Amino acid sequence: MMYAGDSLRLEKLRNKMVDEQIIARKIHAPTVIKAMRDVPRHSFVSDFLKERAYDDCPLPIDESQTISQPYIVALMTELLEVEPTDKVLEIGTGSGYQTAILATLAKKVFTVERHRSLATKVRKLFDQLGYHNIASRSYDGTYGWKEFAPFNKIMVTAASPVLPESLSQQLMDGGKIVIPIGDESSQIMKVYTKNGDYLNETNSIGCQFVKLVGEYGWKE
Ligand code: SAH
Repeated sequence: MMYAGDSLRLEKLRNKMVDEQIIARKIHAPTVIKAMRDVPRHSFVSDFLKERAYDDCPLPIDESQTISQPYIVALMTELLEVEPTDKVLEIGTGSGYQTAILATLAKKVFTVERHRSLATKVRKLFDQLGYHNIASRSYDGTYGWKEFAPFNKIMVTAASPVLPESLSQQLMDGGKIVIPIGDESSQIMKVYTKNGDYLNETNSIGCQFVKLVGEYGWKE
């Protein structure tokens, strides 16, 4: 149950989160900052965690997965340099929070989640909250989403041992992929930019994600 007073209080907590965790840590893009102020993160966690939705940490969601820490969501979004005309592919829908952030910045977001229960839950949530530019499916996202390829941008929100080739193949020329790559315990956030047949690679920060499980990720 949600009371009117609750949402005002949660909005205050959200703005505090943006000031102290996002802006203070040098996320600059005004569009990203605005999206982080607008999207109600507490709607993407279980009722018993709503009070902690704006804490500076990841939180558990169903299927032993996690909703990423707010700063990581903002950083990955900024690194992706989303434009209003972009068609974005996201692998690892999870709670759907990152999807909603992307959907406020892009033209259309295609999101893939391997756990059917999570995919079903977020579809309802996106409808309730009025995100109408999101298409989601339950599938092994290491294959990408061929039917709607190529994409301007691709974000992977689970840890991968390598960049799955299917994803770089589904990226438009000039497009970007943001993906944590490493072993099971820690990864480096990588940014790939496609330039013809060449992929330029840069490193961002160290991070810890749950595993990307699938044909071109980790085996179960
Ligand atoms: N951005 C999400 C992160 C969720 S954790 C959030 O902040 O809520 C990563 C998600 O990736 C998990 O839900 C996990 O089930 C999913 N995942 C792992 N391997 C996958 C694969 N091969 N295809 C699609 N989703 C996958």
